[in-house]
Order: sequence, then structure tokens, then C-alpha cells
Amino acid sequence: MIDALIKNMATKGQKWSNWTGNVECLADHIFYPHTEQQIVEIVLKAKKEDKKIRVAGNGHSFSRLMETNSFIVSLRAFNGLVSVDKDKMTATVKAGTSIKNANEALFKHDLAMINLGDIDVQSVAGATATGTHGTGIGFGNVSTEIVDFTIITAEGEILTCSKNENSQIFEAGRVALGALGIITQITFKVDKAYKLEYISSAADFTETLSELKNYNSNNRNFEFYYFPYADTVQLKKSNKTDKAVKYNKVLGYVNDVVIENFAMQTICNIASAFPSTFKKVNRFMANNFTKETKINYSHQIYATVRNVRFKEMEYNIPLEHFEECICKLKSMIEENEYYIFFPVECRFVKGDDIWLSPAYARDSAYIAVHVYSKSDHNPYFEEIENMFCSFGGRPHWGKMHTRKADYLSQNYEKWNDFLELREKMDPERRFMNPHLQGVFGLG
Ligand SMILES: Cc1cc2nc3c(=O)[nH]c(=O)nc-3n(C[C@H](O)[C@H](O)[C@H](O)COP(=O)(O)OP(=O)(O)OC[C@H]3O[C@@H](n4cnc5c(N)ncnc54)[C@H](O)[C@@H]3O)c2cc1C
Repeated sequence: MIDALIKNMATKGQKWSNWTGNVECLADHIFYPHTEQQIVEIVLKAKKEDKKIRVAGNGHSFSRLMETNSFIVSLRAFNGLVSVDKDKMTATVKAGTSIKNANEALFKHDLAMINLGDIDVQSVAGATATGTHGTGIGFGNVSTEIVDFTIITAEGEILTCSKNENSQIFEAGRVALGALGIITQITFKVDKAYKLEYISSAADFTETLSELKNYNSNNRNFEFYYFPYADTVQLKKSNKTDKAVKYNKVLGYVNDVVIENFAMQTICNIASAFPSTFKKVNRFMANNFTKETKINYSHQIYATVRNVRFKEMEYNIPLEHFEECICKLKSMIEENEYYIFFPVECRFVKGDDIWLSPAYARDSAYIAVHVYSKSDHNPYFEEIENMFCSFGGRPHWGKMHTRKADYLSQNYEKWNDFLELREKMDPERRFMNPHLQGVFGLG
């Protein structure tokens, strides 16, 4: 069986790379299983041959989570909606299902995901494994919607995990970086399909900070983009509405996909060719971003198309330190004249109880900084990361960061519980790679 699988569903010595292209590796094999049983067989083969396994979503992480010269298991071919339960308001998907496909399938049942980030190409398992989040202080990250999941362990055992069954694995496994096993199925809470009215407008940086509490409490989803070297920010507010859809598909595509991405690519090209223009470029963007109102079903509003490749670091900061932190960041950028031309994204997320969630036990702000994929991200990222850490920042697991076990263990109350569980479930370190060994301090 496994030999047939290798012949039909695995490629040998294949290069794997993430979306940005900053992480590449030559895997011994990349497997594309179609069934849970095939996944079990791959795990048993790895055990027999003493290979490591990294399970891949859609490669949309910036950190080195997938880097391995051993086995990669891609669940790309293991996808689809399994069932919906309208009494419990839950849906179950196979782990490799993309958020986009989950959204579309749910919409056919008049259902929708409760909150999302700003792209929809990640797999549901990949997104939740790193604590992917959207914005809205009333909502936790996407993993907080999980009701139960099925996981294949390092021994090839299939376990169902929920608050009542294998509860420790459930508590830890909702954000586990693929370190506890291969999740094959996820059940999560859903909402009735809903429309959002999205408003993008300009505001002053200082005024935005003084209005922050109001913006967060008066809007379902609030975030803002701060444009370096300009005192203007872009406010983005979304609220549920019963109003009619106000969105022209063709114009929307031209604006959101063609113009926005083309403009960003052009800006990256100009700023790369003429570095001295970077301040002007930022001010130009601050004055010319799209101010608009759109009304559409939620999944059409959350998701944006990102064609320009970039590198990103994002930190979770305790909400009460946000204002001081973003002001420090603004001064650091301006004083050091960092050569950057991406806005800084600021989002807000409710605290949760997932052991390795960056929002564990604290309402949080997330601050994300970006550089063009071809630009050097240091020393910008390095200095800003140190500043984030001075506020007890916790890195987004899927984005670039340099923190290792010595720092992380001091900033996660459940760190040792996670490590103990990982050791119990996978003493042979089957699901590890060099990046994770550094993160977990495994030598
Ligand atoms: C353009 C862009 C926009 C983004 N926007 C946001 C955003 O708005 N909000 C946000 O929070 N993040 C955002 N991210 C980050 C992204 O959501 C996360 O990095 C996410 O984990 C990527 O999902 P993926 O399916 O590509 O998984 P991958 O990057 O392939 O894998 C991520 C992790 O998930 C694990 N994993 C995958 N499948 C399984 C499985 N079946 N069982 C167990 N573990 C598994 C992997 O082992 C790995 O550790 C963005 C990234 C990009 C590139």
C-alpha cells in the first residue's frame, strides 16, 4: 500500500518553498495522501525508517516551520466539507481544506466562519496551527472556534480531541505548529451567513489613538494601518448589516486585485530602484489609499488578494501596552529612517485559553511590520522585535521572529505543560525540525 502511495502520491527529492520564497528546502519525499489511512501509513513508514515529518498547509507561513530534508506531508488532496450541524451551529472539514473552499461550501448552507484574517488561501489546519487571527476585540483567533479535532500521533494512532475527550491534547493542539501530530479533521463553530459593511477612511495618527477604545467597542471588526513618515492612518471598520450588497464584482476585481496589487508592485519597484524616494512613497500611499464603503457577505469582505511578495514579522502585545508600543515604533522608524514602504498593520484580538496561543490569557493588539521580499529585513525587524519583547510581546508563530525557548518559556504560562505533553506524545521527535527544536529548546 505505502509503495503504491509513494509511486502515485509522493515525489522524491522535491524542492519545497513557502509563498514568500524566503524558506526553501529539499525534502526526501513530499506525500499527497487522499485518505486518513494513507496518512497513518506515512507516519508508520517514517517511524520505521527513522524519518522526520513536517505536515504542510498551503505554505503561507514566513517562519521556518516547514524546513526539512526528511518527509513533508501535504494535505492538499485531503480536503472538503465533511458535514454541518445547524442545531449545534458547527461545521466539520478535512484538515487540508482551504479557508476559501470552506467559506464557499458553508455559504451554500447559509453559514459562515465567525471571523477571519485578511487572506483565505491557507488551509484550515495550517491557519489554526499558528494561531492565525483577524481583528475585532470581541473575537479570539480562528483556533478559538475549534470544537474538536482528529489527530494522528507519532505512533499512528487516531485520536479525537475535545473539551471532554483527550482534553489536554485539545487544549494544546489547537495551536501546535504541527508539533503534536497530523490533524486530519476539524470541527468549528459557525455563524449564520452574514453581510458586513466595510468602511475604509483616513484619520490622524494621534486622534486614532485617543479614539481607540471607542473604535474597538463600537465596531465588530476594527483595525488600522499606520503609514510610516506620514501622520495619516487608514481606518478599516466592518459591521454586520442587513443592507443590500454594494459591491461591483468587475470594478471590485479591478480595484482590489489589479490596481491595488499593481500599485503596490510599482511602488516596490520604484522604491527599490530609487531608494531615496522612500519617504515620499509612504506619504503618497498615505494620501492615496482607497477610501470606500463596500457591503458584501463576510467571506468576500475579509479576504484580500496579495500578489506582491513580502516578508512579515507580527507580534502580539498586551492590549494595555499597545499605545506606548506603537508610538515607540513610530519614533524608531522615523529616527532611524528605516527604508520601508509598507504600512504597519494594527489589529485587536480577545484573549483565549489555548496553551501556545499568543493571545493566551490576555486581550491583545497585534502589530505587523513588512518589507518587500527582495529587501533586507534587518536591522529593522531586529530592533523592532527587541522593542516588542520589552513589552512581553509574543511572536505570531507563522511570521518571522528570532525568539527561542529561553525567551518563550518566560512568556507562556503553559509552556512547560506543552513541552511535557509533546515529549509524552512524541519522544522520538518525529514531528520536529531545526526551527522547532530551537523554539522548544530541544538542543
Ligand atoms: C499574504 C499573507 C497574509 C497573511 N495574513 C494573515 C492574517 O491576516 N492573520 C494571521 O494571523 N496570519 C496571516 N498570515 C499568516 C498565515 O495565516 C499563517 O502563517 C498560516 O499558518 C499559514 O497557513 P498554511 O495553510 O499556509 O500553513 P503552512 O504555512 O503550510 O503551515 C503552518 C503550520 O501549520 C502546521 N500544519 C499544517 N497543516 C497541519 C495539520 N494538518 N496538522 C497539524 N499541523 C499542521 C504546519 O506544520 C506548520 O507548522 C498571512 C500570511 C501570508 C503569506
